[in-house]
Amino acid sequence: MAEEKGVKEQTLVLIKPDAIQRGLVGSILSRFERKGLKLVGVKMMELDEAVLREHYAHIADKPFYGGVEKFMKSTPVIAMCWEGLEVVETVRRITGITKAREAEAGSIRGDFAMSVACNVIHASDSVENAEIEVKRFFKSDDIHDYDKSEYMHVYAEDERAV
Ligand code: ADP
Repeated sequence: MAEEKGVKEQTLVLIKPDAIQRGLVGSILSRFERKGLKLVGVKMMELDEAVLREHYAHIADKPFYGGVEKFMKSTPVIAMCWEGLEVVETVRRITGITKAREAEAGSIRGDFAMSVACNVIHASDSVENAEIEVKRFFKSDDIHDYDKSEYMHVYAEDERAV
């Protein structure tokens, strides 16, 4: 079963320290699995100041940035690369808005969090950023290519051929 380019779009998800502390890793991971997405990379890692400044460059000049950095360094995080058709947009929708207590019920932030800062996961916000972020957290050897038999049932034939 050859997989075409469309279903090979990739995005980066980080499970943040609040989720690690609260024992939510399995629940969060299963949300993506249940949706029909394909896990192609996963690792636990500690983030240092340099990688956080790069990753959060768009908020590095905000007054709350110091708190975000301290929080993101407080435990290791779990970095995951998920693959699927229009996966970047899909994962952002599953993630929910930044202010978790207002995030839609059924989204991960909506179901598991109350905070703006401690909002359980990060998800890439555009296809362009996803490509950069996957490379930031994974070496190419850490991203795995395999056939997922479930795809026969997750996508229609024309969607698999995009
Ligand atoms: P998102 O993660 O939803 O894409 P942003 O890129 O705007 O949101 O912000 C990155 C992260 O910085 C957020 O997920 C959150 O952890 C933190 N953050 C954003 N805004 C605030 C804020 N006003 N106060 C504290 N932390 C914030």
